[in-house]
Amino acid sequence: KVANPEEFLSRVKYLYEHKSEKSFEEIPFKDGRIIDRYSAPMIGADGRYYGRIWYLRDVTAKKRNEQMILESEEKFRGLVEQSLAGIALIEGDQFSYVNRKFADIFGYSVAEIKLLRAADVVVDKDVPIFAEVARRHLNDGSGGHEFTFQGLRKDGVVVDIEGRGTRISYGGKDALMVIILDITERIRAERAVQKLQVQLRELAIRDPLTDLYNRRYLDETISRELIRAERDRSPLSVVMGDIDYFKSINDSHGHLAGDEVLKALGKLIKRHARGSDIACRYGGEEILLVFPGMDKATALARAEQLRLEFENTPVRYGNSAIRTTASFGVASFPENGRDTDQLIAAADKALYAAKNAGRNNVRVSSA
Ligand code: GH3
Ligand code: MG
Ligand code: MG
Repeated sequence: KVANPEEFLSRVKYLYEHKSEKSFEEIPFKDGRIIDRYSAPMIGADGRYYGRIWYLRDVTAKKRNEQMILESEEKFRGLVEQSLAGIALIEGDQFSYVNRKFADIFGYSVAEIKLLRAADVVVDKDVPIFAEVARRHLNDGSGGHEFTFQGLRKDGVVVDIEGRGTRISYGGKDALMVIILDITERIRAERAVQKLQVQLRELAIRDPLTDLYNRRYLDETISRELIRAERDRSPLSVVMGDIDYFKSINDSHGHLAGDEVLKALGKLIKRHARGSDIACRYGGEEILLVFPGMDKATALARAEQLRLEFENTPVRYGNSAIRTTASFGVASFPENGRDTDQLIAAADKALYAAKNAGRNNVRVSSA
């Protein structure tokens, strides 16, 4: 029944030949059992050799258990040691165990970090982050407590940490087990993406020269505002503006000077704008202002203000101060039009009338 009959027999033979030797060995059986065998010579009080004693015992179950414990311990130690998450046991304010990753996240070796107090790896030393996590977990009785904080590395670099803390009983003592991840890169990437999205949105809706909204944004917004005006039975006014003799500014001072005049108009409009106003660059040197909730008389007054200030604000370009004016046409919902196209056409017509009246003028629509 033994797994290696030859070896077994030769060993027995050897032991009978070497009378004084003791032996202890494990003998595997064909069916998987493991028997351990102890053998020793029997020597009488007279010193005579009486043969051998053989003591055999089935240790299969014991062996199997030992092996299982060994394997599972190794497995779990391996898991914890090689974990991509930082794992630590904190007792009081001391790290009683840290895995390599935990030390790594803060730029220390395992031996170094064990000499620190837990608060030493937290940027804001006044916030007892680990104690707080332990306290919260005690109070809410949940499976653990999630937390984030800014960690301080050995080299002074700040890292973003996300983790989970659980109170456990460890060697008869109360300890906090924390599992943490370094999310610095993730946070950085998220912030960059958010910033980019804001920038992209701005790029998509703003005219780069004047920083006023572009026509696409206007189209989106004006129809929405008109629906609201209709529903609330509130007025809405639009003002179309166009710089007077702009071609001749370009001709006499150059295209870049013309750009400066456009920028100045943009700035002036933005300075005058109130919260709900929508100001956009409608075409080359044409602007369109949308005033939700504003009646025609008020819109006329606002256009007049703009006209006056634009007239009185010469635009600096190099050594010259360019004096320029603009004309405006005002149209209002609902009297001059009920949809975007009608309103803009009405404002455009009023603008045309302002130009015909000699420019540097404001006219209201009579459509
Ligand atoms: P009016 O008083 O009748 O408005 O005369 P105007 O010369 O201003 O005539 P119009 O409004 O038709 O002229 C538009 C000119 O604006 C034509 C174009 O060369 C110029 N323009 C359009 N966009 C820009 C721009 O972004 N920069 C510059 N510098 N000029 C522009
Ligand atoms: Mg013009
Ligand atoms: Mg024009």
